[in-house]
Amino acid sequence: MVRVYCDFDGTVVTGDVGNALFRTFVGVRAVAIVEEYLKGMINARECLRRECEAVGTVSRDDLEAFADGFALDAGFPAFVSFCRAHEMPIVILSDGLDFYVKRILERHGFGSIPFFANKTVFSTDAELTTLSAEFPYRDEHCEQCGNCKRNHVAVQSADDDVVIYIGDGMSDRCPVRYADVVFAKNDLIKNCQESNISYFEYHDFVDVRKRLERLRGRKLVKPRREAAMARRALFIAE
Ligand SMILES: [Mg+2]
Repeated sequence: MVRVYCDFDGTVVTGDVGNALFRTFVGVRAVAIVEEYLKGMINARECLRRECEAVGTVSRDDLEAFADGFALDAGFPAFVSFCRAHEMPIVILSDGLDFYVKRILERHGFGSIPFFANKTVFSTDAELTTLSAEFPYRDEHCEQCGNCKRNHVAVQSADDDVVIYIGDGMSDRCPVRYADVVFAKNDLIKNCQESNISYFEYHDFVDVRKRLERLRGRKLVKPRREAAMARRALFIAE
């Protein structure tokens, strides 16, 4: 079976909802926190923890209204139909917060697509709401991400499955090593080049769908030896 895994921010949605949200509700301090993350000085969990804390008190309605301002990649709906027609299940993997991933997917009629993200906790005390993050899908041996995308890919894919991964950023660097067919844009391109991972550059989901149609026609949606070995090695190591 061919399985499709997609990043959310900057991939399924145009724009980075998480970054924009903290930039709006925190201000310039959020930019400094993200810089530290991108430089590798703090991990994703610490980054999200600090960002949530820096928000202070907030209205959940305001946060949700903010999320409502984001649009899906215009090619995503046709891509989903294409995947469904060919029985390729899609899973969305995000190192952002689940409240906006869920809200945006549902709002656009894609609430049935399974997704995994970090858990948003809204705490209300004396009518003041604060925000924090929990990491139910962190890997206990890895200090990088909040939501371990690699583990979702490994656990949900059988040995003879072909894994397609579509992403754009920092949290996609690890899982692409375990994917057979990689679609990359933005920062992920350089990372694939540096890590010697073959990839297809894409601009939007129209590109991804067209490319996959061609690859399927030529029977080229097939395992990549290094990725299949890397997935198997994860289970042997345990
Ligand atoms: Mg992204």
